[in-house]
Amino acid sequence: MGILSGSGNKGRKLILIVYLLVSIVILLFSAFFITQAIQAYTLYQYERGFSLLFTGVIGLALSLYMLSVYMRRPGLIRHKEVRRMVAVVECVSCSYRDRRDYVSGDYVMKESGGCPVCGGKTLVTEIYPEVVGRG
Ligand SMILES: [Zn+2]
Repeated sequence: MGILSGSGNKGRKLILIVYLLVSIVILLFSAFFITQAIQAYTLYQYERGFSLLFTGVIGLALSLYMLSVYMRRPGLIRHKEVRRMVAVVECVSCSYRDRRDYVSGDYVMKESGGCPVCGGKTLVTEIYPEVVGRG
């Protein structure tokens, strides 16, 4: 369930480190290609310069994109708060009200099965993140 539950998985951490290293290496290569391109242009080697610049810019865009994806990973920068999504389910006929884990595809006012008290319809009425622990 918990994609955000920051239980330290060694394999996953290794993948993240490799991912980060790969994007940094691509970034360095791109910078190298761009400096080579500038050098080629100063030597009037326009064709060589263009292909170097092209490769450099593509690599730069790719590595920056990879880094931005890395930065946006949950639980990596903010280790302190572990949140999980909670959905509140209410019955339309009686006063039954319950909280359960958010399930992918939940939205407010979605029908959520039968009421365990009266058998009536229940609706998702709230969806919010709940802090479950600090680490
Ligand atoms: Zn009910």
